[in-house]
Amino acid sequence: MTPDLMEEGARRVTAYAQAAARHRTASGGRAAGFARPIVPGEVDTTHGRILYLEDVSVSFDGFRAINKLSLDIAPGELRCIIGPNGAGKTTMMDIITGKTRPDAGTVFFGSTIDLLRYKEAEIAQMGIGRKFQKPTVFEQLTVYENLELALKTDKGVFASMRFRPDSAEGDRLAEVLRTIHLAPHADRLAGTLSHGQKQWLEIGMLLMQDPKLLLLDEPVAGMTDEETERTAELFLSLEGQHSLVVVEHDMKFVEQLTQGHKKVTVLHEGSVLAEGKLADVQSNDKVVEVYLGR
Ligand code: ADP
Ligand code: MG
Repeated sequence: MTPDLMEEGARRVTAYAQAAARHRTASGGRAAGFARPIVPGEVDTTHGRILYLEDVSVSFDGFRAINKLSLDIAPGELRCIIGPNGAGKTTMMDIITGKTRPDAGTVFFGSTIDLLRYKEAEIAQMGIGRKFQKPTVFEQLTVYENLELALKTDKGVFASMRFRPDSAEGDRLAEVLRTIHLAPHADRLAGTLSHGQKQWLEIGMLLMQDPKLLLLDEPVAGMTDEETERTAELFLSLEGQHSLVVVEHDMKFVEQLTQGHKKVTVLHEGSVLAEGKLADVQSNDKVVEVYLGR
């Protein structure tokens, strides 16, 4: 057990204890204002949406990075978000994951969970997984050990040290290894993987938590063409079981993901500039103007 892992474990234990304390209320686990108990990992999608943003705004030193942004994602949907640099795509993810508090607006996970009431660690535990641009795997551990570690989140530092996956968890680990194309590399040190393989491993670590919603910020940046194509296949295989919000610049990748018919959202100056099929938004005058510059 390296100091890194100890710290990670300690951080998770603290986050979990805080989350548990927040959920322990006089009404037996019901937080005020909720019609139903909060069960981690359970989200009400009976109204046809897994994520809902309305009129969200945030300013940094007077600059409006997000400006009355509204967005609606359906359960199992794979939504691509495109837009020029500085459009507010990463800030949008920061708001959904609780890293940044908006000045105004509504952010709901399913139809009952008001995400603005929760902290970053709690939101992650509810089943919103986020992939940042840079891969952050444990380079000195094997691929298998990295995935094992992702399973231990809720078990605490000491349990983690003795932790061995049970058979269901072992099955899940094997399944995720196949999904992320790393089954033949299970025993390799993560540090020896290619950039693309590290990205897949990190996605695999998120998948071990079985998130309902995955937020992926420029996941194919720096990947080879072949890795990019395999990443698109990977995301398409997750669609339906998980909801995915993918921010990406690579139009070939977006084309492969949307297969000509899925809805794409174009963000510009913190709001939705256009929404629709990729071919339609690409020929939209406002979008052309924003991409080509004035
Ligand atoms: P994108 O991901 O679409 O390229 P960002 O969300 O990173 O855009 O940034 C949107 C705008 O908000 C940019 O102008 C950026 O400089 C600004 N911004 C983002 N985060 C902060 C912050 N924490 N403090 C100040 N400005 C920020
Ligand atoms: Mg960004």
